[in-house]
Amino acid sequence: MESEFETLVIGGGLVGASVAMGIASKGRSVAVLDGGDSDFRASRGNFGLTWVQGKGAENPAYARLNIFGAGLWPSFSEELEGATGVPIGYRKPGGLEFCLTEQEWIDRSEEMRLVSHHTDGEFTYEMLDHDEVKKRVPLISDSVLGASYSPHDGHLNPLYLLRALQQNMISLGCRYLPNQKVASVIRDQDGFKLHTKDRQFFADRIVLCCGLDNSRLAQQLGMHIPVEPVRGQLLVTERVAPFLSMPSLQVRQTCEGTLQIGDSHEHTDLDDGTSLSMITKIASRAVKIFPHLENVHLNRAWGALRIMTPDGLPVYHQSEQYPGAFAVSCHSGVTLSVVHAGMVADWICGSEPHHLINAFSADRFNV
Ligand SMILES: Cc1cc2nc3c(=O)[nH]c(=O)nc-3n(C[C@H](O)[C@H](O)[C@H](O)COP(=O)(O)OP(=O)(O)OC[C@H]3O[C@@H](n4cnc5c(N)ncnc54)[C@H](O)[C@@H]3O)c2cc1C
Repeated sequence: MESEFETLVIGGGLVGASVAMGIASKGRSVAVLDGGDSDFRASRGNFGLTWVQGKGAENPAYARLNIFGAGLWPSFSEELEGATGVPIGYRKPGGLEFCLTEQEWIDRSEEMRLVSHHTDGEFTYEMLDHDEVKKRVPLISDSVLGASYSPHDGHLNPLYLLRALQQNMISLGCRYLPNQKVASVIRDQDGFKLHTKDRQFFADRIVLCCGLDNSRLAQQLGMHIPVEPVRGQLLVTERVAPFLSMPSLQVRQTCEGTLQIGDSHEHTDLDDGTSLSMITKIASRAVKIFPHLENVHLNRAWGALRIMTPDGLPVYHQSEQYPGAFAVSCHSGVTLSVVHAGMVADWICGSEPHHLINAFSADRFNV
């Protein structure tokens, strides 16, 4: 069976769904070919933060991209909820990152200073000492020396975000084809030809958004997109009375009252399982910050694989050899969803790339 589309997006996770929604919102013909439930899917196992603080301390362009995206989130979430009725639960109370040692405090202060500098002061923050943190989050322990606080951070329910993006892209006219894992892609005189297990697809333009499989398919199109898995393990507790009014990188309280606790960074290749030693470490740090959690029950733990480039920055790349073939990879697909549905989709539809995404071509890896 054969099918033809103007643009095919490969992968229907947070990145593919955001890009496809943005393309469909311009009235363009677009379809998503997605894999199956046995694939690695970061979009179904993440922490749900829209996080800005600290990002881009070593890369000014990344700092500017994140602060720009953070400014768009309130209206983006409102529009998405309005269009779909899916309660993604976005809140922007700001975020805290706790410091337990002097060194953490020193490092964090410097990171925050750099991000603020790179964004000409648009990124604002405070370094809070213990007493200041306690005023905002009274249940912290004496082990907490202080915290960085930034009003630009927020959080949401990432599964509802994915559902809302997919639902909206479909209602805007995008076709969604699950269980169509792309095995190969070639370019001939008629355009791009893709093969799945039992079907062939044709398109004038394709966008690789298939997470850890981006490297393999990109290679078939003459692009070098190095991504590797970095595992994170997350824990979810039973519901507890509200005590944490804003998220942190280690602990956040969901709208429903459960606590999500993370996060590890482990180089375990393609193993997305859990380990008792890491679960213990993650839980112990949370209890060190909030001793009252000691007897709270864990409901669930899981591992998921981040899609990490060598420098940790996103990739927005068009093949030089085969113009019309694009690749999008990133490890902050919740936070950057708003950017992918906006300026990245515009660029794929033919606009000049916005200066904020220009810096993220994969050419930087060709050394
Ligand atoms: C533990 C953890 C915590 C995280 N926390 C945050 C956070 O707090 N904030 C944040 O911004 N980001 C966070 N992230 C990162 C975020 O989850 C990812 O950046 C994002 O989900 C990546 O989306 P994706 O669509 O690129 O990849 P995926 O979600 O992996 O989706 C890839 C899709 O492509 C499909 N696919 C694969 N191969 C093929 C193929 N050959 N053909 C067709 N389809 C294919 C798969 O089935 C899948 O649907 C976290 C990630 C992890 C692992």
